[in-house]
Amino acid sequence: MNISHIEHIGIAVDNLEESIKYYEKILGLKCYAIEEVVDQKVKTAFFLVGTTKIELLESTSPEGPIGKFIAKKGQGIHHIAFAVKNATEALKLAEKRGVTLIDKESRKGAEGLDIGFLHPKSTNGVLTELCSKQE
Ligand code: ZN
Repeated sequence: MNISHIEHIGIAVDNLEESIKYYEKILGLKCYAIEEVVDQKVKTAFFLVGTTKIELLESTSPEGPIGKFIAKKGQGIHHIAFAVKNATEALKLAEKRGVTLIDKESRKGAEGLDIGFLHPKSTNGVLTELCSKQE
């Protein structure tokens, strides 16, 4: 699998602008990017904490994955993302080891990373993302 570090922690929020205020004014972090990922129906905001990022996710549609998550569980930690060498190969390896995949193939995520998700039913309830920089 070749996991090098926790790339980011994804946090579902109701309102990106309001949440950014907490991370900047209370925690003293700096939002360095805001990006919309159209096919995931989210707007994201990023903060760097050491080598790990915090990715805030605001849904742009109640039909999107974050919209559904918030409707069911409210705001909070949504997923953990591990940095791997090659997301496509890591997904294949996870599948070979018996994990149910949400993404059979890696796809393009925020910040241009190759990403893919493992199903929480195979990961003790934690939605898990594998991501790698494009080669
Ligand atoms: Zn993520």
